[in-house]
Amino acid sequence: MKKIIYFIIFIALLFVLYKPIKEKLGISVEEKFLYEDILNTINDKKVEVDRFTIYGKHLNLEGTLPNNDSYTLVLKNNEEEINVDTIVNDNKFSLAKHINEGLDLELLKNGDYIFLLKNKTNEDYYNLINKTDYHNNIYYTITKNKKNNKITFPELTFNDINYWTINIKEEKLPSDVYDVVIDPGHGGVDTGAGNGSYHESKFTLEYSKALYDALTEEGLKVKLTREDGNAIEHYGEGSRTGIPYETKAKLMLSIHLNSSNGKDQNGVEIYKAYNDNNDYAKIIAKNIVDEVGINYSINTMHQVDKGVYMRVYSKYDIEVLNNEAKRNNYEPFDIPDNATYYYFIRETGGILTNAFSDGRNPKYKENLYRKYNQAVEAYLCELAYISNSKDLKLILNNQNQFVKALKNSVLAYFQNTNVES
Ligand SMILES: [Zn+2]
Repeated sequence: MKKIIYFIIFIALLFVLYKPIKEKLGISVEEKFLYEDILNTINDKKVEVDRFTIYGKHLNLEGTLPNNDSYTLVLKNNEEEINVDTIVNDNKFSLAKHINEGLDLELLKNGDYIFLLKNKTNEDYYNLINKTDYHNNIYYTITKNKKNNKITFPELTFNDINYWTINIKEEKLPSDVYDVVIDPGHGGVDTGAGNGSYHESKFTLEYSKALYDALTEEGLKVKLTREDGNAIEHYGEGSRTGIPYETKAKLMLSIHLNSSNGKDQNGVEIYKAYNDNNDYAKIIAKNIVDEVGINYSINTMHQVDKGVYMRVYSKYDIEVLNNEAKRNNYEPFDIPDNATYYYFIRETGGILTNAFSDGRNPKYKENLYRKYNQAVEAYLCELAYISNSKDLKLILNNQNQFVKALKNSVLAYFQNTNVES
């Protein structure tokens, strides 16, 4: 009997010690290194990446090529190869023209992949080398059935060959990470637009809270920038522009009501960043028009599509800023070309939307996150004109329809699977 027990203990010890012993001896006969074949064929063929960004759910890479041939981005391991088209121009490649396009991170399956470029003509592979200042990005996929994937981008070395990888694995969402941010416009003494006793800031809060409930019911993790009538800081930790970065949210809708001196002016206007394509803004506008029965705005200023608007700094806007700098004794901002005018679109997009608020204007704190390469995709939703009597009636009576349209728009963002592969 004793012999049998000793034997069982011996076998159990073997099991426990097998892995450490094996590791010490460096034996890994059956566990072949995942990228060995690939890396051996590549040797030192490499392409340097000088821009690496994540906007909303889309990843983009840009870099310098050895020639002007056609290339595909390849995510590869020993089991599969995913090909993503690239745009080649002047010996440079990128994945997309607009910041809200590129590789849809929501569509990737769990696994480890190496990032490569493949020359379409001779099928040569090139290693991608991350030459940017950004090396520690973490992306969490949107909550689906209470589950999330964590995506990281480890840079590794094998036989002195540097290579870049993408790792996707299921992981619980940290408590401070959210899927979506809803921003009720204005707050505190800033009540926004008004009509008689009706104030914008009260409606935006009411609507946002209803939208929060509707999205939470769909299983999404939602963060409101403000939960009561109090004002909120524009910049800094826990602020309107800080929260989207801090929560690693993918999508932010800022809820507003419009106003005009012209009492006939009415309808929906969705504002986007200057370098977004119009597709998603169009979806939001159409959902609202269809669900609520309101019309597309008749305002043509800053209009880029039906219901879609984009405002950039005009020469006049820049002059106003410069005069303010002069009055308050600080060096004027160097406003980049096509800078998006509305701060909660521009300043929430990091380097992607050319965020520039560095605190030189004593009226506002510094945007601590303006140099981030990973940012939320933000839209400013002017749901209706509070100054128009027909629209005001809809605002007062059709809250459910507005909220349903916004909820369906958020759901559409994560269901849209127009991947470019
Ligand atoms: Zn507003």
